[in-house]
Amino acid sequence: NRILRTTLVYWAPIMGAALTPMLRQYKALKRDNPDAILLFRMGDFYEMFYQDAQCASRLLELTLTSRGKGTDNVVPMCGFPHHQLEPYTARLVRADQRVAICDQVEDPKKAKGLVRREVVRVVTPGTMTDPDQLDATANTWIASIVAIAGQFGAAFLDLSTGEFLAWDCDTTGETGRRRLSERLRAFAPREIVHAAGFDWAAGSDAPIHGDALRTPVDDYLFNHDEGCERLKRQFNVGSLDGFGFRGRQAAIAAAGALLQYAQDTQKCGLGHIHELLLHDPSDALMLDETTQHNLELERSTRNGERRGSLLHAIDRTVTPAGARLLRRFLRAPLLSVDRIVERQDAVEELVGGAALREAVRRRLKGVLDIERLLTRTVSGSANPRDLYALGHSLERLPELIETLAGARAPLIRETLDGLDPCDDVRGRLAAGLTDEPPATLRDGGVIRDGYDAGLDELRSIRSDGRAFISSLESTERERTGIASLKVRFNKVFGYYIEVSKANLHLVPEHYHRKQTIANGERFITPELKEQEAKVLNAQERIEALEQELFTELRRQTAAQAQRLRRVARATALIDVLAGLAETAVADDYRRPRVDDGHGLVIRGGRHPVVERSLTDRRFVPNDTRLGGDHRPIGILTGPNMGGKSTYLRQVAVITLLAQTGSFVPAESAEIGITDRIFCRVGASDSLSEGQSTFMVEMTETANILHHATPRSLVLLDEIGRGTSTFDGLSIAWAVVEHLDAVEHGCPRTLFATHYHELTELAVELDTVTNLRMAVRERGDDVVFQHRVEEGPSDRSYGIQVARLAGVPSRVVRRAAEILANLERDEYGRDGLPRRAHADPGDAAQPTLFGMFDPEKPEPPAEDPAIADVLAEIRGADPNALTPLEALNRLAAWRRQLRGDARD
Ligand code: ATP
Repeated sequence: NRILRTTLVYWAPIMGAALTPMLRQYKALKRDNPDAILLFRMGDFYEMFYQDAQCASRLLELTLTSRGKGTDNVVPMCGFPHHQLEPYTARLVRADQRVAICDQVEDPKKAKGLVRREVVRVVTPGTMTDPDQLDATANTWIASIVAIAGQFGAAFLDLSTGEFLAWDCDTTGETGRRRLSERLRAFAPREIVHAAGFDWAAGSDAPIHGDALRTPVDDYLFNHDEGCERLKRQFNVGSLDGFGFRGRQAAIAAAGALLQYAQDTQKCGLGHIHELLLHDPSDALMLDETTQHNLELERSTRNGERRGSLLHAIDRTVTPAGARLLRRFLRAPLLSVDRIVERQDAVEELVGGAALREAVRRRLKGVLDIERLLTRTVSGSANPRDLYALGHSLERLPELIETLAGARAPLIRETLDGLDPCDDVRGRLAAGLTDEPPATLRDGGVIRDGYDAGLDELRSIRSDGRAFISSLESTERERTGIASLKVRFNKVFGYYIEVSKANLHLVPEHYHRKQTIANGERFITPELKEQEAKVLNAQERIEALEQELFTELRRQTAAQAQRLRRVARATALIDVLAGLAETAVADDYRRPRVDDGHGLVIRGGRHPVVERSLTDRRFVPNDTRLGGDHRPIGILTGPNMGGKSTYLRQVAVITLLAQTGSFVPAESAEIGITDRIFCRVGASDSLSEGQSTFMVEMTETANILHHATPRSLVLLDEIGRGTSTFDGLSIAWAVVEHLDAVEHGCPRTLFATHYHELTELAVELDTVTNLRMAVRERGDDVVFQHRVEEGPSDRSYGIQVARLAGVPSRVVRRAAEILANLERDEYGRDGLPRRAHADPGDAAQPTLFGMFDPEKPEPPAEDPAIADVLAEIRGADPNALTPLEALNRLAAWRRQLRGDARD
């Protein structure tokens, strides 16, 4: 309502004749920005009209008003005060709107007729740079994609930091489309720019995915030759070959278009974009989206929050740029043993030297977001506080460099060598800016005394004038004998002398009366006005000069953007290394051995997130041996809640951390480089995409079977659970057989399952070993030990878990009864277990192996197959059998019983 009232007050004087030319001006600007909501600056307000007003009033919860008479001339409108620009823009953009900000580009006082207005910036989801509206710990990517010359090209730009990457691949069939989708998912851009004619679906089974806002642009933006020229101009180079883009037409076309789009929206210098890097995902361990989700890399699956994620558990960085870099490390762990060892050496040195680590982290704490501050500096939007923060961050560098001077780890040495302390920039900012300057120039007091002689002179004139005026009060009191005389200032009269009614008879003649007020009168004197003119004149010139000096300081700083970017990167890397070292010490992580082998040996491994979440008991560490000298496939059985998923995830997380260069939560670990981790844990629903749980599960399984290599790590939890038992079991069985037969070697695999039948695979396949979660029985209850042991587990304990979960005891008893019958294969003609119809008074507690329970009478062996098997069991001499023979026999009996009984 306040806004509505003020808006109406504002509009009242200009309704009528003046409105038409202004609306014409509005419409012309809107014509150039048809897809954006146009924020039209009018005095102290931003106004929106027509459909923009209707849409924005809904999204921003502003009151929609209208002006004009009759039905034809009514113009819907709404608006907000100008100082609310950033938050309102951010809200519109978060609602996937494009926003064109139109400002008055000349002083309204000096304008002849209508004030000139221009669109000064277009803000879109991918081009937001306001640090207050961005997540400091994550990149904000905008992407462009193109298909030309038999290739897909994609480019990714973070305007807030200046990072710019491009990628390409062959378009051949679905593989190309899938790879493009993968890249889009990996970067998760907020907006994707594409040619209007880009074919997203291409009638294929593999439409290109990307949840971001899609922005179609004219096809010519993607012209390769023009894009190439644009990029060369931006980087001031004669050829892009030096960046590794020789012959990469699609990558160049995508990058060229994205740069143009950025220029068109920002409408200012993009001097902070210095280079285009070739994005090569084959350098990194591949983690598809499902795996990232299941491993809770960045968000907990429970509530989607950062707390409870792996990143949250290991992030002990102290700068925003460090946090962003760690996140990127985690999304793309390394494949090169040398590079991993390089990082490990650096972390180890910082782990070993507690004093060094603490000193480094203390120094880094004062370093603010240099990358993003720099972007604002280069684009000219940095305010005095931004520039001060930049200078303040640079102040930390000399001490940081000194602290690390004795470090030996090659990665630290190398980083240090590139760490230019930028003394000149720091010196200039320290000399130019006052301590803790105001956020806006308008408030003054931005430039330090002694920086500019002209400014100093003006300031002394102003302070002399002010001193004179403030001394005037006492001199005039003395001179006139009016003890209550006051010298005051207001915007209408400037300085004046105020005398109360009772003393008016004492006012001297040379006082000029200006105004009568309730209890006195206001006067001015020629002397007062003379001093006032001096002060006000000096003030006006001070403001202009401060503005000029500040802009120059910002320009000079922006000119050093390339050096400052390197500083930003170096400090971010040191922050990540020191943070990883801090985590290693705080949470007792150890350095893993990483090599090019195919083994995975972990002793005393823990899950870093689950471990932290346990408050009342200790996390039980577990060993893992897969691949290399050990069988690569582990079939893990055990009760619900036994810890299977945790175990699977911890193996993945330890591998991933190891290849990130981090230490790992284990007593020791030896890890052969893994090219890809597949983690299918639990049933993830994609019902919003119209797919059933089982369909999602099978699609993900298909993906794994297509892409797993002998170097991959495959973690499968409960495959086949979403369908009938026999279907599920058969699929799970066939999946293991397929992995066993992967060409050139079986991937390291952990398969958690409730199908105990799968444990027979260990007999048939020499790649498979059985593992189980240890359980202790206490009466009818089970105690989960969370310890992984070798061997198959013999029971599911589902009913005991149901009891623990609070299922009513009658239901639990009944379930036990039914189970006992199912296990005896005692079906009636109706296909239901016979005892399912049993006397409700029969409270006998069934044992799961009732068939061999000495307390119970033997069940009648009506089925000849059962009779045969029982006879064989009775006749068997366990002491005369080798374990393998025993297992083989067991498998044969089981087949006999199942097959014969069913036939
Ligand atoms: P389900 O089959 O029902 O999914 P699960 O066997 O996969 O169960 P998890 O979800 O891994 O079981 O673990 C259940 C709970 O057990 C965890 O939330 C955790 O509290 C605890 N837990 C798991 N592993 C351990 C461990 N190694 N040490 C201590 N507690 C553990």
